[in-house]
Amino acid sequence: MPDPIIVLENLRKAYGATIAANDLNLSIPRGEIFGFLGANGAGKTTTIRMLCGLTRPTSGHGFIDGLDVWTDRYRIRSKFGYVAQKFSLYPDLTVTENLAFFGGAFRVPRGELGARIETLLAQMDLVGKRDAMAGSLSGGMKQLLALACALVHDPPLLFLDEPTSGLDPVHRQQLWNLLYNLGHAGTTIFVTTHYMDEAERCTEVGFVREGRLLVKETPRRLKASFKSKLLELEVDPVMPALAAFRSAPGVLDATLRSGHARIYAADPESLLREWQREWPFPELKWIHHAWVEPDMEDVFKAWSQGYTQLFDSTAS
Ligand code: ATP
Repeated sequence: MPDPIIVLENLRKAYGATIAANDLNLSIPRGEIFGFLGANGAGKTTTIRMLCGLTRPTSGHGFIDGLDVWTDRYRIRSKFGYVAQKFSLYPDLTVTENLAFFGGAFRVPRGELGARIETLLAQMDLVGKRDAMAGSLSGGMKQLLALACALVHDPPLLFLDEPTSGLDPVHRQQLWNLLYNLGHAGTTIFVTTHYMDEAERCTEVGFVREGRLLVKETPRRLKASFKSKLLELEVDPVMPALAAFRSAPGVLDATLRSGHARIYAADPESLLREWQREWPFPELKWIHHAWVEPDMEDVFKAWSQGYTQLFDSTAS
């Protein structure tokens, strides 16, 4: 692998009996947009906080650019920017004052700070808001300002913890365009998200469950790792159908997708044949069936619920 910027070696964090990060091993090359995915409480924020030197690992090591994330935590500060889930802007300072504050904290040379702030204001579309109090900005603008503050020292690595939660689709798109531009310019991005369309945009994603890293792969290969297409049924009425399918033998789960029931089953072909032979739900009208390609939501579902039966065991 070409020169990784992040390396985790058996990195662990325990809070009493809770193992938030369970012996994580991971290597992230420079320039990657890495999506760190997992259900609530899976251990994503804890891992980022260890990488940022904000919480001490219980055991194991993490390295950024070859420096230990705990013992060298003051030296690595200049190497990354961090947009936390609950970011800490100063609401009574203006947009420009916030940027100047973080610029000072990250020791951006005085002679360069003015130009850097102007570049960031333009990039984040915040020029018109430069003198507004940060506390008066909309949620989306606050998020963009938090990103600008994290980038004020032009770090080679950026950590973002659910940066788009609560943003409307236009601001989400704007933020991802910015991340792409940063990625193209060589910045490594480590991002957590619960939006699977965003996971799709990452160069690689890792799935974490109960503190364990289950897989790290490109979105394309993850989708290709399913052993078959997924069965979708158009049935009427669809909501009771979901409940009926979920308790049917051979079905792991069923979810609603665009008005149809998408079925997760270890052997969907046999299931379909069986249901075609004898439809076990007299109260439901079968209208149509189709085979659909798995998407990242399906990948997330399978990994977070532990439906390993859906994967082609010869693929990995
Ligand atoms: P979310 O998607 O909800 O943000 P997450 O994947 O970021 O979740 P973490 O916040 O890392 O998950 O939490 C992982 C586990 O560690 C959870 O069980 C959580 O309750 C526990 N945990 C996190 N921080 C602490 C703490 N300071 N003290 C005790 N337990 C903690």
